[in-house]
Amino acid sequence: MGVMIVVGLFGFLAGLLVLVSKSTSSETVDLRTAGSDATKPEPSPLHQKQWMHGAADCESDTDPAIDVFRADRTSYILRQNKCLSYEAPFIYLLFGEDRTLLLDTGATKSAAEFPLYRTVQSLLAEFGEAADRELVVVHSHHHTDHYAGDSQFAGQPNVTIVEPTGAAMRDFFAFEQWPDDEAHLDLGGRRLTVIPTPGHQEDAISLYDPHTRWLLTGDTIYPGYVIVKHWDAYTQSVARLADFVHRHEVGAVLGAHIEMTDKPGEIYPIGTIYQPDEAPLVLASDDIVALHAALEQSDAPSKLLFDGFVVAPMGAMQRTVSTVVGWFVK
Ligand SMILES: [Zn+2]
Repeated sequence: MGVMIVVGLFGFLAGLLVLVSKSTSSETVDLRTAGSDATKPEPSPLHQKQWMHGAADCESDTDPAIDVFRADRTSYILRQNKCLSYEAPFIYLLFGEDRTLLLDTGATKSAAEFPLYRTVQSLLAEFGEAADRELVVVHSHHHTDHYAGDSQFAGQPNVTIVEPTGAAMRDFFAFEQWPDDEAHLDLGGRRLTVIPTPGHQEDAISLYDPHTRWLLTGDTIYPGYVIVKHWDAYTQSVARLADFVHRHEVGAVLGAHIEMTDKPGEIYPIGTIYQPDEAPLVLASDDIVALHAALEQSDAPSKLLFDGFVVAPMGAMQRTVSTVVGWFVK
């Protein structure tokens, strides 16, 4: 019973955190471009992809639990159905010559409701080498909507799960001077760069894939309401990303959620399970450059409102709750 009370308490605290986290009282800096056509539509199938975006009535929803987008034979993007979790996180699956990377495992544990392992297995089988290749499971950061599905992979053959803790992650990638160094993950003919991007959460990373030229940014920057727990660390992380996009060819900046509508600066309220007019997933390296400039100019944490995303500081109270929840929710 004591355990129940503790679990109940932290469930309550986690809920409280979500409720208060979108209502910060800091100043807002409006950086919208007021109707200018800054974001031109791109012709690629990824830019044009209409994702599964929930349902007005989830009871009669007939969409699958997972929307699978195939960019090419070795690169997939998966999105969880909003009727299972309003977070509807995106998950990335990349095949190398030797091993396969799964970035994040979604917001739902249950394999019956959310058959992520089975879906990944069928994509591995389609690729043709399911039997003996290693599947490495890593996380963009350690919030539950990005690692809840880990349990489906635990104990499965040829699966390596990097536990969702800062220590396990830094050890796996062999970071020596976190967050000031970069690490690499070689999948065989596909060498990913791992960039430390703490700020939204302490252990957040971004990954660059030279094959697709995707920069996978998790919740560090995505078309939605980015809550920043550690403002200074975040400012430095975005500076690191801005430096990276200057030095590398980045075709698409891809985060882990969509929360914006297709109108500049307009966000769906937290908890929305039906987003018929949601923004595209794809951001551009220019968005990182603009965010970097705004962060450099702001002398205090403030809400930064862009056409395609919003960045806002977490309040002191929320930071404390987040840290305490982080101790227990693992
Ligand atoms: Zn997060």
